[in-house]
Amino acid sequence: MKNVDTLIHARWIVPVEPLGTVLENHTLAVEGGRIAALLPTAEARRSYRAETVVELPEHALIPGLINTHTHAAMSLMRGLADDLPLMTWLQEHIWPAEGRFVSPEFVRDGTMLAMAEMLRGGTTCFQDMYFFPDEVARVAVHAGMRAVVGLIVIDFPTAWAQNADDYLHKGMAVHDQLRGNPLVTTAFAPHAPYTVSDAPLEKVAMYAEELDIPIHMHVHETAFEVESALQHTTRRPLTRLKEIGILSPRLMAVHMTQMTEEEILQHAAASAHVLHCPESNLKLASGFCPVHKLMQAGVNVALGTDGAASNNDLDMLGEMRTAALLAKAVSGDASALSAAEALRMATLNGAKALGLDEVTGSLQPGKAADIAAIHLGELESQPLYNVISQIVYASGRHQVSDVWVAGRHLLKGRRLTTLDEEALRARTLEWQERIRRNDMHQEKK
Ligand SMILES: [Zn+2]
Repeated sequence: MKNVDTLIHARWIVPVEPLGTVLENHTLAVEGGRIAALLPTAEARRSYRAETVVELPEHALIPGLINTHTHAAMSLMRGLADDLPLMTWLQEHIWPAEGRFVSPEFVRDGTMLAMAEMLRGGTTCFQDMYFFPDEVARVAVHAGMRAVVGLIVIDFPTAWAQNADDYLHKGMAVHDQLRGNPLVTTAFAPHAPYTVSDAPLEKVAMYAEELDIPIHMHVHETAFEVESALQHTTRRPLTRLKEIGILSPRLMAVHMTQMTEEEILQHAAASAHVLHCPESNLKLASGFCPVHKLMQAGVNVALGTDGAASNNDLDMLGEMRTAALLAKAVSGDASALSAAEALRMATLNGAKALGLDEVTGSLQPGKAADIAAIHLGELESQPLYNVISQIVYASGRHQVSDVWVAGRHLLKGRRLTTLDEEALRARTLEWQERIRRNDMHQEKK
């Protein structure tokens, strides 16, 4: 008998690699935060002993979902203003609230709320872009969640930094603090082509190479962005990024709703990634990312929710379903983005984009035990012909029962083990009152 920390016996395991595989009556053995073995349950019961044994007889285990694009702290502004044109929404509601409230405390509380929501929805890893990335990192470590914090760069001053060089300087200090952290890493996060000028982008390209970290950036979100860049710079934003040296295997371009055939091929040739956020694109009427064409060209497409102010949830199961349905509608092809491919997009493709595919993204021996369990025992999940189809097309996040990150049981029977749900609820209510009062005051102006 071999000793391990934890044995998780599950009715089904969907390892994601190989694509479409469903193992029945299998077990994950976890040791030192990693997957030690994946084997039939009968065999595991004979050959392994563990201090902690978890029986999940009506559940499917999947790799923890990876949300590759969030502005986590913006969860505190969820539902503050909806159904408005982009500029009205930003200028009259979001920016005034950010200008008044963004602070280390705001980022701490907003990110904790976001992490609670993400863990309860089966997400084990998120990539963030927001101010005070040092706070995001701190609370992610506190919660035990895997995260890639964005070293944000933007031309104008905010509570976090005064100018582009100040953002870069503070970002690199955060990177230094996190060196060797097993859960939290960094990426440069220049906000967008229209908010970051050439000189800081050149520095981002250079420092990203030096530090060997990825670059996370909103690119070609709307037709308006591309048109106004053509007017002001005579080039499409992607062309400008290529000239500056940003278009590389390090680039994770968020949104990409505007792409010519040539740009798709160019993106594939550069081995750059696309972070697809279908629900945010739909809600803000931004356009459609050509996911099917990108995949056919060989581009790695991962999935994100964007911030809760423009989605309005951080529900990766829901995002997966939207992505699969939308890809079919946009391509006019019902076979585009199958359920298994959508699940891979929400897991392994995300890990690849983040440079973490050696660590997470699939259930394979040697990788971290980043796992979500989905309960498929209720009437709503019957009959059950195909586990992956059931998860992608017919499951909701309330069915996520348990979540582990690096072997730590962070969600146990739907209760969070590292975040205090009651305290979080109380602090969120305080922010709600303060932000609402300020928003009403703005409207009267
Ligand atoms: Zn965004």
